[in-house]
Amino acid sequence: MATLKVEIKRKCAICGNVFLAKFLDSRYCSPKCQKIASARKKAEERRLQRLDELKQRIPDARDYISIAEAEALFGVSKKTLHRLVRKGEIQSINLGTRLTRISKTELLGKFPLREEPINRQYALPKLYNMEPENCYTIGEICQKYKINDSSVWAQVRKYGIPSRQIGNYVYVPKEEFDKLYKSDV
Ligand SMILES: [Zn+2]
Repeated sequence: MATLKVEIKRKCAICGNVFLAKFLDSRYCSPKCQKIASARKKAEERRLQRLDELKQRIPDARDYISIAEAEALFGVSKKTLHRLVRKGEIQSINLGTRLTRISKTELLGKFPLREEPINRQYALPKLYNMEPENCYTIGEICQKYKINDSSVWAQVRKYGIPSRQIGNYVYVPKEEFDKLYKSDV
């Protein structure tokens, strides 16, 4: 991706330092923060994968489940579940040390099931106001953000930004492009 010709100030998502974004996608101030971010992302993916695997192993017919199984089913942390059990907000039976069991039926009345990755893509599409006054033409974006039209088109495709042709002009929503180039601070 081409280096930016306009100044975009971003707040590093890891350390909070303000930095000048080199690319539209820059989210971190340094290679070090980038590394921390990707390590965290990988750890989170592994965590979710473990939860998914555990969830698969819970028999549908069994009502009493462990705290770990409840975390896998509902995405509520074990810490929170233990607290709710201690406070008596969730009924529990205790089969021994570390063998607390809670009722799936009761939890279903309190929490939504943890979303599986496959459901995440069914989010409603965003509706745009595509009237020309709410849009830039491709030429206006080139001027405003000092990029050429092939970069504009690359960004339109990459970020799934809708476009509309009227006569000789192609319009794209202002809010989407301004959001891409927005400074955090
Ligand atoms: Zn940083």
